[in-house]
Amino acid sequence: MKNLWSDEEAKNYKTDLELRVYTSNLLGRSDELVLHGGGNTSVKTVLDGEEILLVKGSGWDLLSIKAEGFAPVKMSTLLEMAKLEKLSDSDMVSGQKAAMIDKTAPNPSVEAILHALIPYKVVDHTHADAVVTISNSKTGLDNIKKVYPNFLIVPYVMPGFILARTIYEMTKGLDWDTIEGIILHNHGIFTFDDDAKRSYDKMIDAVTCAEEFLEENAKLELISKTPVEFNIDQLKEKVGAEFINVNQSDLALTYASQDDLRSKVTRGVLTPEHIIRTKRHPLVLEDENIATALDSYKSEYKKYFEKFSKDEIMLDANPKYAVIKGFGIVSFGKTQKEADVINDVIEHTMTAVLRADKLGGYESISLKDSFEMEYWELEQAKLAKAV
Ligand SMILES: [Zn+2]
Repeated sequence: MKNLWSDEEAKNYKTDLELRVYTSNLLGRSDELVLHGGGNTSVKTVLDGEEILLVKGSGWDLLSIKAEGFAPVKMSTLLEMAKLEKLSDSDMVSGQKAAMIDKTAPNPSVEAILHALIPYKVVDHTHADAVVTISNSKTGLDNIKKVYPNFLIVPYVMPGFILARTIYEMTKGLDWDTIEGIILHNHGIFTFDDDAKRSYDKMIDAVTCAEEFLEENAKLELISKTPVEFNIDQLKEKVGAEFINVNQSDLALTYASQDDLRSKVTRGVLTPEHIIRTKRHPLVLEDENIATALDSYKSEYKKYFEKFSKDEIMLDANPKYAVIKGFGIVSFGKTQKEADVINDVIEHTMTAVLRADKLGGYESISLKDSFEMEYWELEQAKLAKAV
């Protein structure tokens, strides 16, 4: 993949934070690395004699983040939190907030503790398509080990404190100089360095390795065809969507024309946080009546909710998008932007699913892990605060 670093542009960025803003924006410019608020970055610095982690604020987008989008949190507090056996979400949020040296800054990313644990000045985290495509397949762990022999590979666990705690345990006594980065199975990748450019370069180089592996082992093959007729107004009305995005690209048509469509397109999200935008499953329409299909979608959703919920309140049971046999993909939104964002996420998912099927079959996180992510209050809070 293309390295977007420019010495000419970089000249304008001098301080730790300014350079951090620059390489965060560079990561954000590549939608094959992060999409719509995905990923997070940080830089460690010293302010008034205290070591501080400047970490992406929740709700900010790497593409457009500015200096004020980074939350300044005391490193000493974050490192103490990593040692705790248990920490509730609300205690993590309030503990991090109390450790912020500027209370007007945004809430730190849910991965702030993990960023603090990585003993390098600059830390980059993305959900690179190529990495999660390889990871989200039946042969995922084996292939990831092949592509990344010198990375720490972490089996899937819930993001946030549990992930930070897992990495704390896994890296006790580790000589960090012996690893080139971290792969989070079914989730994404971390690179780090004491220099902003080198950390960015490492991300681009690592993701390029995954892209080359896919080019060799799982080439994307698309078909070109004319879409079938479909009553889209009726679908929009039944779902109660105010806005829709209709995708009939070769990719969407290839995806929506697969045999055994329902089982192929209901295997979960590309990276966990996508679930808050797309839900785990789309509405699938093969030949069914729209109203009947929608009723059964909602009752399935209700069953899934009842199976895993403790005291949560059920979200809207309507689908976020539909896969319509031979027609394409339709995404739904309360605004056009919402429908377009869902379409962007699905574009990346479709490519990954088609390619991972050539690596033994696409396989994402479990239903239970999906539920925990979908109903994680810290993820839902991101939607409310999106800037
Ligand atoms: Zn992530």
